[in-house]
Amino acid sequence: MQVEAVERRPDRVTVTVSTPWQLMGCPDCGVVAPSRGRRRRVLHDVPHAGVGVVVVWRQRVWRCPDTACARAVFFEQVPDLVAARGSITTRAIGWATEQLRREHATITGLARQLGVGWWTLWRAIKPELERLAADETRFGGVTSLGVDEHIWHHGDPRRKGPKELTGMVDLTRDERGRVHARLLDLVPGRSKKAYADWLTQRGEVFRAGIQVAALDPFGGYKSAIDDELADATAVLDAFHVVKLGTQAVDEVRRRVQQDTTGHRGRKGDPLYGIQRLLRAGAENLTDKQLDRLATAIEADDTHQEVYVAWRCAQDLRAAYRARDTTHGRALAEKILTTFHTCPIPEIARLGRTLRRWREAFLAYFTTGRANNGGTEAINGIIELARRLARGYRNRDNYRLRMLLAAGGLTP
Ligand SMILES: [Zn+2]
Repeated sequence: MQVEAVERRPDRVTVTVSTPWQLMGCPDCGVVAPSRGRRRRVLHDVPHAGVGVVVVWRQRVWRCPDTACARAVFFEQVPDLVAARGSITTRAIGWATEQLRREHATITGLARQLGVGWWTLWRAIKPELERLAADETRFGGVTSLGVDEHIWHHGDPRRKGPKELTGMVDLTRDERGRVHARLLDLVPGRSKKAYADWLTQRGEVFRAGIQVAALDPFGGYKSAIDDELADATAVLDAFHVVKLGTQAVDEVRRRVQQDTTGHRGRKGDPLYGIQRLLRAGAENLTDKQLDRLATAIEADDTHQEVYVAWRCAQDLRAAYRARDTTHGRALAEKILTTFHTCPIPEIARLGRTLRRWREAFLAYFTTGRANNGGTEAINGIIELARRLARGYRNRDNYRLRMLLAAGGLTP
């Protein structure tokens, strides 16, 4: 490209460009074609120093002189500058894509900076995202796989399809043992089928490569792993297990509260005052907070039940927090042999749940603490991207944007 002119105004820079003369043959018949002059193409380029940049391309036009040839007029094409019918330069599309990928930018904001409409920009970016998403090499080298679901819309499922999306996350560790979680895909629904079908589509090599499959306690996903990833070790996610413990304490607290006072917790009730303390790990509580806890428990004999449930939840945390996994595993084994016999029904139920998930629960301690934590990080990115965009109407667009923002399109 030759720069013919640069015009600077406070709000805009206009750069006029053209290519040097060249001998041109008709793309169909090869006959040397005489020039028919040029036409002006106005292209939106990457903003410079906060000012919008417009590239005026004096595009060459030729005409095939052979009257027998079907090709009449034809135009110069420079894909490095702009796509055949595009109005945004190739480098501006690349710039906008990187802004979306790395800088939490929005289509709205980028479109404004480029001086184009939302749809114009999205139509320019989307084909490249689709191409990247369809490239199966981005699934290469995955040895540790997480799965989780999230709600992507609150509208009418008959119109927008299932509210839940199942997300697959690459949790593979690098050579230093660190996880760089990447969102690999999003598929509609929360079911065994949603996960199993996706695993089937990835092919034999991908499935054989998976050594660890992390999941939250949902039977559907477990059964997909059992069917499709027979050689992988299923690992129940630590975060979700600890949450089950916290939920059990909450339930006990609410039940005892109701039984002793006849109403739901309210300000001034001893148990209501400690509901947040009960959710925290004991190791994070200050002496003052521990005193408050003790006072609330001692306020009534029936509160002992809450205390015992809380201790059980702390035992569960302790298993995960144990410095070496052999000790942690021993604590977990003890939980498996005791919780289900607990006279507190909520803890007994937690014990039965853990026994049902026995293998996957214990697998945490034999897989070097494999967990779904990376999946939670991905959910955070999804949440942020969704808020920035103020919601999505179209599931395909949602999937592409989330894959881009959460690393899925980067091999
Ligand atoms: Zn021709």
